Amino acid sequence: MTTPVESHRYDLELKGITKRFDDFVAVKNLSLSVERGQFVCLLGPSGCGKTTTLRVIAGLEEPEQGEVWIGGVRVDDMPPWERDFAMMFQDFALFPHMTVRKQIGFGLEMMKRPKAEIQRRVDETLATFEISEMGDRKPDTLSGGEKQRVALARALITQPGILLLDEPIGSLDFSLRESVMLELKDVQRRLGITFIWVTHDQNEAFSLGDTVVVMNHAQIEQSGPPETIAERPRTRFVADFIQGNNVFEGTVAAIEGGHARIQTASGIFAVPVDPSQAPAPGAAVTFSIRADILTSQPTDGHVNRLTATCRAVEYLGAIRRYDLVLEDGRSVKLEQFRSTGTRINEGEKVTLGWRVEDGVLHTPPAGAPA
Ligand code: ATP
Repeated sequence: MTTPVESHRYDLELKGITKRFDDFVAVKNLSLSVERGQFVCLLGPSGCGKTTTLRVIAGLEEPEQGEVWIGGVRVDDMPPWERDFAMMFQDFALFPHMTVRKQIGFGLEMMKRPKAEIQRRVDETLATFEISEMGDRKPDTLSGGEKQRVALARALITQPGILLLDEPIGSLDFSLRESVMLELKDVQRRLGITFIWVTHDQNEAFSLGDTVVVMNHAQIEQSGPPETIAERPRTRFVADFIQGNNVFEGTVAAIEGGHARIQTASGIFAVPVDPSQAPAPGAAVTFSIRADILTSQPTDGHVNRLTATCRAVEYLGAIRRYDLVLEDGRSVKLEQFRSTGTRINEGEKVTLGWRVEDGVLHTPPAGAPA
């Protein structure tokens, strides 16, 4: 077994990982540092390289370039069973003919621990996960949520430094997901184990992650707390991928102090810029404004204005989401709490507004003309 390095700051470090399948690059020069006890969600569309990244950490794929460090130990030359992690899969991969007790003790049996120790630790683990009364049952008699608890108990009994989870609740009924998510988050907090959770579901990632890592085309587009990803999308891809953003394309007409004036097909708008990284006049840029920041009752501070006609209204619990059409035919989304703002009717024409500081200018993709 690996000798853990107690003084390590990061439970996981990926340094410049590249993984190819023949000519296809599945993970490209990816670096990520995860502090101890973090809940990290790898989020992105199908095929962006999330599972491959997980498999590289596990030692199930060998990268062409880069280094993997787990618990302060470089593990590139170690087989999976010597690395300090456990894994949980979407279908839980429970052994159908084994009782719950037997499954949970399986990892310790493989490690050839003494029988008395296995018995004691299985009892403790059953109690921790509140499944003591299910010890003699087999998986086909358990509900989806119970199977998930057994799989988690089996993964964590060996006290791994990291738990890798690949779409772990993807196969659960929608109605069960929320309670299972809360339970998993609670276990993660209580045990202080680092979770690396792969998902393509942004609600999952935003509910659970201390850090959300958004991936696209084999690379990280943005990594940070959920609030930052939601409110300050770094790139156009993130703004498009995360629900609730209105994305505009345009060219820089002028830079004036702390903001750019951007000419778009829908008008000219002021968007904040970092003066040290301001794009040049004439540069093609994109920016976004969140649907819940737009207002249909603009005041003096809302200097950016649009005229739009309401096309449809959706009711989402406490929120009304409006689909509006601009004069140039493009659509914009507006979200308002039902308790605030006045209701807009289909066919009604409104003026929308937002403050300069609410707009987010995106970093252009690497290689794009400045
Ligand atoms: P999903 O959410 O659909 O699981 P993902 O983001 O996890 O997607 P990966 O499974 O990491 O994506 O796959 C990334 C890309 O690498 C995909 O285009 C996939 O087809 C390809 N790929 C993965 N494994 C192999 C393999 N063994 N051989 C060839 N190509 C592969």
